[in-house]
Amino acid sequence: MMNTELSGPYRLVYDEITFFVRTASKGVYMLGQQGQANRFLVSYVGAGFTDVRSELLDRIGTASMFKVQLTTSADAAFSKQCGLFHQFQPSGNFVHPERPRGSSVQCPYCALPKNAVVRRR
Ligand SMILES: [Zn+2]
Repeated sequence: MMNTELSGPYRLVYDEITFFVRTASKGVYMLGQQGQANRFLVSYVGAGFTDVRSELLDRIGTASMFKVQLTTSADAAFSKQCGLFHQFQPSGNFVHPERPRGSSVQCPYCALPKNAVVRRR
């Protein structure tokens, strides 16, 4: 399985979110549950373009576990979120992620030639 570089999984509860994401920061996250053989079953991918911690706190109750990676910019969070979206096509993501407000960053996967688009595994 491809390494997503996100840390976790941690339980999607207040204490663990605030412990593992110490301050308001940009970042990307996945929600899901722990499956068999230590496999993380992804149900949703999201990003916080200003504050991934408050995004996660808002999602408490929607999944049991989360993984998270902090990023240095909103555009980096968006690009990473797009990669996870195309890789996992989670059941909780009905539409393609939206770019950060005011940004013109493109999804690096949708911008590829059609025959190079990352396909569902
Ligand atoms: Zn895309």
